[in-house]
Amino acid sequence: MDFLQKKIINHGTVINDHVLKVDTFLNHGIDPELMKEIGKEFASRYQHEKVTKILTLESSGIAPSLMTALALDCELVFARKRKSLTMVDSLLTSSVHSYTKNQTNDISVSKDLLNSQDRILIIDDFLANGQAAMGLIDLVQQAGAEVAGIGIVIEKSFQPGRKLLEEKGFRIDSLARISSLSNGKVHFLQEEPI
Ligand code: 5GP
Repeated sequence: MDFLQKKIINHGTVINDHVLKVDTFLNHGIDPELMKEIGKEFASRYQHEKVTKILTLESSGIAPSLMTALALDCELVFARKRKSLTMVDSLLTSSVHSYTKNQTNDISVSKDLLNSQDRILIIDDFLANGQAAMGLIDLVQQAGAEVAGIGIVIEKSFQPGRKLLEEKGFRIDSLARISSLSNGKVHFLQEEPI
C-alpha cells in the first residue's frame, strides 16, 4: 500500500510523538479513490475467509469499511458511539476508552444486526492501544459470532494495540504501520513495506 504511505507523508500532520492527524483524507475529509484502494486491499486479503459482515465503529471506520464490504460483497454494520432515538431494539454494548478523547464511552449495536452464524471482519481507521478493537471484538463475541480478523488502515506500531490483540490470537492486517512519529516525522516499519 505504497499510495497510503505516500498520502500519509504528503497529507498527514504529526501533532505530537503519539498522534497523527489525517483529517484531509480519512477522519474528516475523505478521499474516495484512496478508500476504493483500501477496500480492494482488505478484500484481497480476506477473500477466502468467508466473511459475512464487516463491523466497524462510527464515524471514521465507515468509509474504508463500506468500500471493503462492496469489494467482498458482504454486509456492513457500524457500532454507534451514541444511542440514537430509533435504537429501540435490544442492544449489545461494550465500554471503550477513547485514545484521542481520553474518555470512556459505551459503543452499541442492535442485537438484530449480528448473529451467531456471522464471521466478522472488524475494520477501524487507527490502531493505538487496541481499546476500540477490543470493544468491537466484545460485541462480536456477545453475539456468539466469530472474528475473522482485524483490518486497520493506520497502525501505530510503537503503541501496544497490536501486541494486545496478537496475544489474544487475533489476525491483524494493517495497511500502513508507523514505527515512530518522533521529531515531527512519520517513519514506517522497514520490515514490512506495504
Ligand atoms: P485505540 O482504541 O487502539 O487506542 O485507538 C484507536 C482509536 O483512536 C481509533 O478509532 C481512532 O479513532 C483513534 N486514534 C488513535 N490514535 C489516533 C491518531 O494518532 N490519530 C487519529 N486521527 N486517531 C487516532
